[in-house]
Amino acid sequence: MSLHAQTAGYDPDNIFAKILRGELPCEKVYEDSHCLAFMDIMPRADGHVLVIPKAPARNIIDIDPMALAAMMAGLQKVACAVHAGMAAEGITIQQFSEQAGGQVVFHLHFHVIPRWNGIPLRPHTGAMENRDILGDYAGRIKAALAVMAG
Ligand code: 5GP
Repeated sequence: MSLHAQTAGYDPDNIFAKILRGELPCEKVYEDSHCLAFMDIMPRADGHVLVIPKAPARNIIDIDPMALAAMMAGLQKVACAVHAGMAAEGITIQQFSEQAGGQVVFHLHFHVIPRWNGIPLRPHTGAMENRDILGDYAGRIKAALAVMAG
């Protein structure tokens, strides 16, 4: 039996596919041959990063298991860098699949959200963060990645 359930298919013109192809800008923090990580433009907390596979996958339901496994090392690396770079006390990782699961952009992505005790996630208001602020947080996370790389 296939692991893959039926989904509505992959739209190569979704926003994250365009970011992957360089057709739309992003505030990049990390890239390897399997994944790309960049700042969420409408963050639920300061330092909120998205990690996406380079493989064209709609969500967790339809991604090839090998492509999923291949991006996990990058996801962990980014989570550690967000934790260190943002001086966070914890990390929340979220992944939404299909509209009923809360998914809005239909290219698989993991939310990596730094957390601090007693501070709830901000509501999803649709307000875009200032680019300079996103750049500042990206700089902190990239600096942490550089330290981790030794
Ligand atoms: P989800 O599909 O898991 O509900 O969330 C999609 C996420 O993508 C949201 O957190 C939203 O803020 C983020 N997002 C939507 N459009 C863009 C964009 O053009 N650039 C970036 N960097 N993030 C985006």
